[in-house]
Amino acid sequence: MAGRRARPWGARGWISWPVVRRQRVVSFILKGIGYDRRDMVTVSPDLFKQVMRRWASTVNVVTTRHEGVVHGLTVTAFSSLAAEPPLVFVSVNKRARTHAMIDQAGIYAVNFLAPQQRALSDRFAGRMPEADRFAGVALGQGVTGSPIFADAIAWLDCRVTERVSGGDHTLFFGEVVAAGTRGADLSPLLYFNGRYHGLGSVCED
Ligand SMILES: Cc1cc2nc3c(=O)[nH]c(=O)nc-3n(C[C@H](O)[C@H](O)[C@H](O)COP(=O)(O)OP(=O)(O)OC[C@H]3O[C@@H](n4cnc5c(N)ncnc54)[C@H](O)[C@@H]3O)c2cc1C
Repeated sequence: MAGRRARPWGARGWISWPVVRRQRVVSFILKGIGYDRRDMVTVSPDLFKQVMRRWASTVNVVTTRHEGVVHGLTVTAFSSLAAEPPLVFVSVNKRARTHAMIDQAGIYAVNFLAPQQRALSDRFAGRMPEADRFAGVALGQGVTGSPIFADAIAWLDCRVTERVSGGDHTLFFGEVVAAGTRGADLSPLLYFNGRYHGLGSVCED
């Protein structure tokens, strides 16, 4: 077109010059601090898993209720996000049955397990041939209707506020609408290096 500069073609169509300028400024700054996209190496899933085995986490069972049916799965990919308002998130495999249920129901509860609840963790991870994962588990019910384990050391009852896709998982951000703990001195079940652990001693200076 006469008198007009050719525009670059973006992934989703024409992208505007302000966007291109911003991208160039960002690249310029990143190169200035010694970062170049071409320097990035590919991290294999095996290496990633090897590194993540060095990451210790608590073991939790995330439960939900959809159309009267309760379900749950063992989760370590859980974290708090903010205190005001209270927000948390869990990362759930898109192929897990619980994923579809949380997605549709928009609610979940996080039950923090105690060291003596290892078998429960295995059961909710599908490691045992247990038809009913909730069999014999003393249950209460959260404000949202999600099952709460009576013997969990602490629990959070959440409403989903946002869903963020990341690879084969979805992060379900949850606003905490109810919460409880069975005692401040109870310690959690931990998962580290592919095995269950209890808390060790407190690190002194
Ligand atoms: C210590 C520990 C921590 C864990 N942390 C997490 C976590 O943070 N997030 C998480 O999502 N999971 C986690 N898991 C795994 C999770 O607990 C189990 O996968 C559990 O069985 C999921 O239960 P479900 O009934 O929702 O899904 P299930 O129906 O039991 O599916 C379990 C898995 O089977 C596979 N699968 C199911 N259907 C299909 C299909 N149609 N095609 C191909 N594959 C399929 C998928 O890999 C799926 O994730 C953890 C397990 C352990 C032991």
